Amino acid sequence: MQNRQGCAPGQPAAIFKTLAHPVRIAILDLLRHGEECVCHMEAILDKRQAYISQQLAILRAAQIIADRRDGMNIFYRVVRPEIYVLLDAACAMSTLPTTTPSAVIRRESCPCPKCTPVVAIAD
Ligand SMILES: [Zn+2]
Repeated sequence: MQNRQGCAPGQPAAIFKTLAHPVRIAILDLLRHGEECVCHMEAILDKRQAYISQQLAILRAAQIIADRRDGMNIFYRVVRPEIYVLLDAACAMSTLPTTTPSAVIRRESCPCPKCTPVVAIAD
């Protein structure tokens, strides 16, 4: 194995610390195939928006994700896809039984534009 070049131990430690949270990993799993809005994460993960926002802020501060506002919605996307190499390696090392990822499920209750396409409201 090669030495880590010019990388102090604290740098990878900070990345692992950012990842050391199941909900943050669940968020990253949701973002694997592209951006999602906060309301979508809220519906899929079944957590309050304030809680999701708190975890998103930590991931954003670590410069793993970035956000984009579109009208009423804020979309998040992963800007460091290398993170999935780490996550996949950690999953491969896990001896716990596997579960079906919730990320593939689209909830009917989700109000985001992907799950509920905007329809013209006639009155
Ligand atoms: Zn949605």
